[in-house]
Amino acid sequence: MTVPDLIALGYLAAAVLFILGLKSLGRPRTAARGNLLGATGMFVAVVVTLLDRAIVDFRFLAAGVAVGALVGALLAMKVQMTGMPELVALFNGFGGAASVLVAGATFLEVVDLGNVDDQLAVAAALTALIGAVTFTGSLVAFGKLRESLRWSSFAGLHVVRAAAFVASLVLATVVVVQPASTGWFWALVAVGLLLGVLATIAIGGADMPVVIALLNAFSGVAASTTGFVLDNSLLIIAGSLVGASGLILTQIMCNAMNRSILDVVFSKAAVVQSGSHDDAYADGVTSTSAEEVAMLLEVASRVVVVPGYGMAVAQAQHAVRELMTTLEGMGTEVVFGIHPVAGRMPGHMNVLLAEAEVDYEHLLEMDRVNPTFAQTDVTIVIGANDVVNPSARDESDSPIAGMPILDVDESGTVVVIKRSLSPGFAGIPNPLFVADNTLLLFADGKQAVLDIVGALLEG
Ligand code: NDP
Repeated sequence: MTVPDLIALGYLAAAVLFILGLKSLGRPRTAARGNLLGATGMFVAVVVTLLDRAIVDFRFLAAGVAVGALVGALLAMKVQMTGMPELVALFNGFGGAASVLVAGATFLEVVDLGNVDDQLAVAAALTALIGAVTFTGSLVAFGKLRESLRWSSFAGLHVVRAAAFVASLVLATVVVVQPASTGWFWALVAVGLLLGVLATIAIGGADMPVVIALLNAFSGVAASTTGFVLDNSLLIIAGSLVGASGLILTQIMCNAMNRSILDVVFSKAAVVQSGSHDDAYADGVTSTSAEEVAMLLEVASRVVVVPGYGMAVAQAQHAVRELMTTLEGMGTEVVFGIHPVAGRMPGHMNVLLAEAEVDYEHLLEMDRVNPTFAQTDVTIVIGANDVVNPSARDESDSPIAGMPILDVDESGTVVVIKRSLSPGFAGIPNPLFVADNTLLLFADGKQAVLDIVGALLEG
């Protein structure tokens, strides 16, 4: 067997490991194994690529690995669990930027040698455009997730965006037709960077999860087209897998939000009313205490716990599990109602509850739990806000109108645990807080749940 055969075999093994890894990631029970398979595939891919051809001096590679590892380790130590989605958004962006740089460097090198063929020119143009859009689009998403950048629009945004889109198509065509004039390549990158900002700046509120999934798909497609530039089959396969899974996730998120992808991309900016909405609630809020909630729970036969982003902030998942086991010990049925976009990343609540060893049988997705609220005595909403906001269902002019919600207001009593009357991610008031059957327990999520458990055990 020749060396190229061995290299090809190594790439094939890595590709098979990626596919098996993805398949295993599809089920919570096999997800850990899927992760391991994927990581092994990546290890094989890196080793084979290093042995394949001396791409650059190994000393440069070692320096790159050292700097990357240092930055990665610092980020991993600094970033809180709740900051993970922002970090993922940044990673998507860096993936796009890396694709542009790698494809650009190769393209320029081949142009210098004077042997650019059509495949290379098309792939380089696609990488420049998609990679650049992914980079700046992800930076905007990062800013929005950190809530340091509030979405906004300006008069004529649609026109400027359409003009940038047309310009990018024209430039991409020019790059393909006249690859030797490399200035057009960088002009395309510049317009791609602008288009990334224009395409994401007006998107916000409940649409953010969809955008992040879409940018993730874009980063995969950019990696795949880079594979065509480098003529590297593994990069083509790995990039396609990321692109395809990102698109499937985008579709799932769109379905969950009851939106089409065009609605998301071309939606008018939601008007955000930042700050508190205390005035909107007037005196209609009924507050409660941990002891009162414990008394309600003592006589309840069915309890639904609805977690949201605040559970992640409070790191209350272990306390919530303790509440579940305490109530089950008293003969109460307890389930968790999981909204597909609760938290700040897909599967956020599932991950946190799995970490606290709440088994999957206790978790009911939105479609399964919604018909059961009417038969539920007490629903405890911990740190969730937008995903239980009835205005999405009842008010057609609400910025989150049409987003399916958990119908917690149909239960006997709703206890909402949060620290204040601050809004959730979408920045809008929540009529649930003034509903007749709602009680608000103002406290940090973890402390509140521990206090309820304490009161139950004492009682
Ligand atoms: P929200 O962002 O709507 O609300 C979170 C609530 O948690 C806030 O009202 C806050 O109120 C409360 N909170 C924060 N810290 C604590 C704490 N320590 N203890 C108790 N409560 C706390 O969260 P949801 O999960 O309901 O909704 C998710 C939102 O994020 C949706 O709008 C979704 O579109 C968006 N999104 C989701 C993504 C995903 O992939 N899942 C990605 C990007 C955005 P207070 O400050 O008063 O305590």
